[in-house]
Amino acid sequence: MALNSVCMTSDVYLVCLQHALSTEKEEVMGLLIGEIDSKKTLHISAVVVLRRSDKRKDRVEISPEQLSNAAVHAERLSHELNQPMRVLGWYHSHPHITVCPSHIDVTTQAMYQMMDKYFVGIIFSVFSETKTTKEQQVQVTCFQSLNKNPDCEPPAYVQVEVPLHFVPASRLSRPCLQSMIELPEILFQEEKDCYDATRRLQYLSVVDQLNNDAVFTKAMCHITEMLTAPLVKSLEQRRTLCRRRLDELLREREQIMTEKLQA
Ligand code: ZN
Repeated sequence: MALNSVCMTSDVYLVCLQHALSTEKEEVMGLLIGEIDSKKTLHISAVVVLRRSDKRKDRVEISPEQLSNAAVHAERLSHELNQPMRVLGWYHSHPHITVCPSHIDVTTQAMYQMMDKYFVGIIFSVFSETKTTKEQQVQVTCFQSLNKNPDCEPPAYVQVEVPLHFVPASRLSRPCLQSMIELPEILFQEEKDCYDATRRLQYLSVVDQLNNDAVFTKAMCHITEMLTAPLVKSLEQRRTLCRRRLDELLREREQIMTEKLQA
């Protein structure tokens, strides 16, 4: 196998999970950014949330333009953070289905590996229940594709699991915060694109139009309820914690200064 293992920071996991949980009707996807070390371990520290042009079920396609934009974004990040950054792989969600990659996933992954042998795929299975307690569970898998029949046609691709480790992050990094903030906006744009497409149709009756207006409004409420409101609440809580910590540090500094003067 080309890869040793994959390490993902906890703030990247948070963004991917938030994205995966944003809809239980269709699959969502994005690209993973970071660096690779000399031991062939990938270190994922940022993501690019992708806007879908096709929201049909089981349809996850990344256009060459999206890949190229992500590469430009990775390069910009590498200048900002002063460390090498590149596109390392892709992630997508499996709402209500098993975490195992489908036949299409394994073939798509093989195609990416033809361009970059270290490219990796990560799947988040969401909105599924445990068999025994019926509790909601999240499952994650990390994989690459391997051609079991390199000498024959057609190729016989199989999935090979890659060990995935989560690395705790002490803070929410700026690139992850940015992705998190962009997420509701991207989902809004997807809904607006669908809605605008229906408005261009000539033969719609007033009732059809009213129905489309209602569907669009419902989608906006869903984004606000599921993403924007919890995000604002969580960021406010983080700000309160940071202010409290800052106050503590200022008090400690004052105490040290007083003790120094007295000594
Ligand atoms: Zn899939």
